[in-house]
Amino acid sequence: MIRSVIGDERVVLHEPLFRGNESKYVCECIETGWVSSVGAFVDRFEEDLQEITGAKKAVAVSNGTSALFIALKLCGVQQDDEVIVPALTFVATANAVAHCNAIPHLVDCETQTLGIDPHKLDIYLNDITKRVGSDTVNKKTGRRISAMVPMHCLGHPSQIGPLVDLSKKYSLKLIEDAAESLGSYYNSQHTGTFGDIGIFSFNGNKTITTGGGGAIVTNNHEIGKLAKHLTTTAKVPHSWDFFHDHVGYNFRMPNLNAALGCAQLESLDAFLDAKRRLASTYSEAFSNSEFVDFVTEPENCKSNYWLNAIVLKPEYQDQHDATLEFSNHQGIMTRPAWKLMHQLPMYEHCPRMNLEVSESIQSRLINIPSGPGIILGKIEP
Ligand SMILES: *Cc1c(COP(=O)(O)O)cnc(C)c1O
Repeated sequence: MIRSVIGDERVVLHEPLFRGNESKYVCECIETGWVSSVGAFVDRFEEDLQEITGAKKAVAVSNGTSALFIALKLCGVQQDDEVIVPALTFVATANAVAHCNAIPHLVDCETQTLGIDPHKLDIYLNDITKRVGSDTVNKKTGRRISAMVPMHCLGHPSQIGPLVDLSKKYSLKLIEDAAESLGSYYNSQHTGTFGDIGIFSFNGNKTITTGGGGAIVTNNHEIGKLAKHLTTTAKVPHSWDFFHDHVGYNFRMPNLNAALGCAQLESLDAFLDAKRRLASTYSEAFSNSEFVDFVTEPENCKSNYWLNAIVLKPEYQDQHDATLEFSNHQGIMTRPAWKLMHQLPMYEHCPRMNLEVSESIQSRLINIPSGPGIILGKIEP
């Protein structure tokens, strides 16, 4: 089926597509000398992101992982806190928690959205936590649970409405890992804008790329200002003096990368449109399959279909590796789901709930080629 769309070439999972002003804007940086940590493209990229997401403030940073780390810091996550993280996620979500010397507490997902199951989480938190002052404390470990980081898996929005309610019920800060979901909406509101802070990634395999890059978005003016300040070495503005008022970070996105990003954002609507067309082609092709289900966007949501996925029906679970082996051998790049966080050595001892849904999905899911170029071609007609 893919072959009929793209012809006879090798098909990769998600390659970047440069079809607009990318070269022009990057050359502009080189010609003007504005290649590094300040420049007009950084400001423009942040403004563009604000407009697209509806967030009051966007701060461009070096990558999605540093965005998550700063978001956790700004939400007050401290050493020895526990942070609720889905077991089914890319490792960066858990890593950012570990970088704060905090502990990921792994929770299960649901089949429909592939995101955290809010109902299961509520029952679980009600069971394992107690209230100490204004804190929610894990009765077993005695540690404070200070935040949760839902992730919009493969671009499909999680049930963020109920998750926001839960974060309030248990006094948890909410950071949305929207790394994969630029262009995805829950009830017509852009993902990443529901919690205290949201983050995006613009790595090479994401919906749009800056080479490497990320962003922090928030509707909280104070948090936004502090995010910019902390990620730019906490230098107090002055026309010639060097005064820094915090232990800051150099997590800036260089102007060169932002230039690429500005050009990519000009193509965002075309990319999203192409990805929806590809998803609907897949959906039709797999609609009567006796072997697999195609993952579609949840109800009341618009997904960017960042990575398309099929899930083998339970009775064909044993065909998982053979399917991967066969398609890759045929020149069609497919990949399994990430290993669940507790299946990685550094997180195997993390506290966790029963993860049966994540385990079932992890053993059956296969990502299939999803780049916008499959529909648009490498060159604009
Ligand atoms: C890509 C990704 C990140 C991290 O992004 P980088 O820019 O690679 O640091 C974080 N979380 C999820 C879920 C991702 O897919």
